[in-house]
Amino acid sequence: AETALYAAKRMGGRRHAFFRPELAEQARRQLALDGDLRAALALKQFRLHYQPKVSLIDFSLEGFEALLRWEKPGHGMIPPGEFIPVAEETGFIVPLGDWVLDEACRQMREWLDAGMEPVPVAVNISPKHLRNRSAEDFRRIIDRHGLPPDLVELEITEGAVMQDLDHALAVLAALKAMGIRVAVDDFGTGHSSLSYLKRLPITTLKIDRSFISGVPQEREDAGIVSTIIAMADMLGLHVVAEGVEKTEQANFLRHHNCTQVQGWLTGRPVPADAACSLLMERLREIA
Ligand code: C2E
Ligand code: MG
Ligand code: MG
Repeated sequence: AETALYAAKRMGGRRHAFFRPELAEQARRQLALDGDLRAALALKQFRLHYQPKVSLIDFSLEGFEALLRWEKPGHGMIPPGEFIPVAEETGFIVPLGDWVLDEACRQMREWLDAGMEPVPVAVNISPKHLRNRSAEDFRRIIDRHGLPPDLVELEITEGAVMQDLDHALAVLAALKAMGIRVAVDDFGTGHSSLSYLKRLPITTLKIDRSFISGVPQEREDAGIVSTIIAMADMLGLHVVAEGVEKTEQANFLRHHNCTQVQGWLTGRPVPADAACSLLMERLREIA
């Protein structure tokens, strides 16, 4: 969908366009928020929270997803849904996304240096970020912290791949060769066909929360979820269920051979210190 900023830009260049005050107002708001976001990065107001990915076999911690939060003074914690779309629109997502990857790697390095047993950390990569970066760019950030590449997973959406298929395929292939994992996020909500899926050099499918929420009652959702799990298995891909809130959902997933979940049932996103406590518990379990 065309956004206000582009619409306004286009209108500015066209003498016969009608003036639409609500579009101009929306563009002004976007520009103001973009300025606030750039300032927030300089002022170090962004934080990462970490949500556990948990084994359905023994409920052990198998990884984290890093999720961005803006701690805006006087406004509390602002969730990503309220600013990522604008950052994506204005292009600020590129430096912001670089920061997220760098910060997740820095945090992991700190945990490793503190003697924690490593688990992979996933970072969300937006469509525009993917379009503007090469595999080497991502690799350079990971290398900066001396991390093994297979401790990092990049989560991309089907839309990000389809927007520029050739570039995405080249980047994904290079990432795979480097050992960096790639997951398709919100799987099932995009428009990628099975023939594309077969060609994508990825490691993981993350089943979108909207399907999980209907399981096990809704027949259609149950069918879609069990089919995605079977398809992932057939393609040799790892599969994760997102947004698991209830025991019945976990039971359904286990019954259909999905072995990893991420959701409120097994852990909400938490700040880095609480995530470190989870790593310490894990260390005790291993010992
Ligand atoms: P996502 O990547 O699909 O992340 C999962 C979202 O679902 C997170 O919301 C998480 O808090 C939420 N969630 C997890 N388990 C449950 C559950 O059991 N029930 C419910 N109702 N929700 C659950 P969050 O943190 O608000 O992030 C929303 C979206 O914002 C993310 O969806 C992702 O697309 C985007 N996002 C977050 N951080 C970043 C980032 O660093 N970069 C980019 N480009 N996008 C990000
Ligand atoms: Mg994600
Ligand atoms: Mg998702």
